[in-house]
Amino acid sequence: MPYVSALPRQLVETAVERTVREHGPVALQYGSGQGMPRLREQILEVMALEGIRGSVDDVVVTTGSQHALELMAKLFLDPGDVVIAEGPSYVTAITVFKSFQAEIVHVEMDEGGLVPEALRATIVRLREAGRRIKLLYTVPSFHNPMGVTLSWQRRMEVLEIARDAGILVLEDNPYGLLYFDQAPPQAMRSIEEDGVVYLGTFSKTLAPGLRVGWALAPHAIREKLVLANEAAVLSPSSFSQHVISEYLDTADWRGQIDTFRGVYRERRDAMLAALAEHLPGLRWTVPNGGFYVWLRLPEQLDSKAMLPRAVKELVAYTPGTAFYADGGGRDAMRLSFCYPTPDFIREGVRRLAAVISGELTL
Ligand code: PMP
Repeated sequence: MPYVSALPRQLVETAVERTVREHGPVALQYGSGQGMPRLREQILEVMALEGIRGSVDDVVVTTGSQHALELMAKLFLDPGDVVIAEGPSYVTAITVFKSFQAEIVHVEMDEGGLVPEALRATIVRLREAGRRIKLLYTVPSFHNPMGVTLSWQRRMEVLEIARDAGILVLEDNPYGLLYFDQAPPQAMRSIEEDGVVYLGTFSKTLAPGLRVGWALAPHAIREKLVLANEAAVLSPSSFSQHVISEYLDTADWRGQIDTFRGVYRERRDAMLAALAEHLPGLRWTVPNGGFYVWLRLPEQLDSKAMLPRAVKELVAYTPGTAFYADGGGRDAMRLSFCYPTPDFIREGVRRLAAVISGELTL
């Protein structure tokens, strides 16, 4: 959960008040299935921060990026189709693809994100087996759950591989603006327009409770997304869209993103320091942004089996198996540093280390 308490109440109150005062009847009415034109313009400004240029016509506002994932799956996936995804991959994207009876095939990752050679080999293998590959789903910046970031060089390579193979890339980028040191490489959509559908959200840079995200898609796909959006929800929430639009007009939203970065940087630092202190023998990723650290356990441990014992000590994590469609990830877990305070993080890691060492001596 994002730490929404770092968002000053005053900023939200102003946006809500202006929405009610100045747009009352419109904000309380159904809106366009594609989303508010003014907000779509503002979304272009947000995406420009990551090097993306697009047209307001090609932005579709959705009920969080989660809904954009669902709409993309609905449009593209038939039973038996393959979605290639990073291994591990965002758990609720896996759930969506599975719900349309697609098969998720994972491609190996390392500290630098998706491994291009492994992607190439996977495509060859699947094609030889006569499989139909519909999408490459990727979270290139501050990956959920691994926390790692795809380099610029690899972004180019992955796009080239996908282009050669005629596979559409679904770039899911909720965390790109939440960097701690240097900005990540620019979005893959900034390099390639036709072969990429880009997903963004206000959930991490503003507030997830508003449930507003978006897709930026090539024209033909955008038309279908709007129809699918209308069929599913008629229009995304007019009220939320107005509140966000007012917020972007009246608040120092770039400064607020800076504030979030500072909060999460401090928490990341607390987690890394606590891991180094309490679990010096283990390996974990070092994220430069986002919310997550991926911790590897000694091979003989099973993170899912261990979870009830951790919860008994009042510390929780997401077992690695949640992020694989094929049973992988037993010896890994996702730790989230976004919500707890640094003190809670330190105490949580201390307790987790005690649980792990208890398992090893069983
Ligand atoms: N994609 C990824 C990678 C995420 O981590 C999340 C939120 N955890 C989402 C999509 C969905 O976000 P939302 O629907 O709130 O925009």
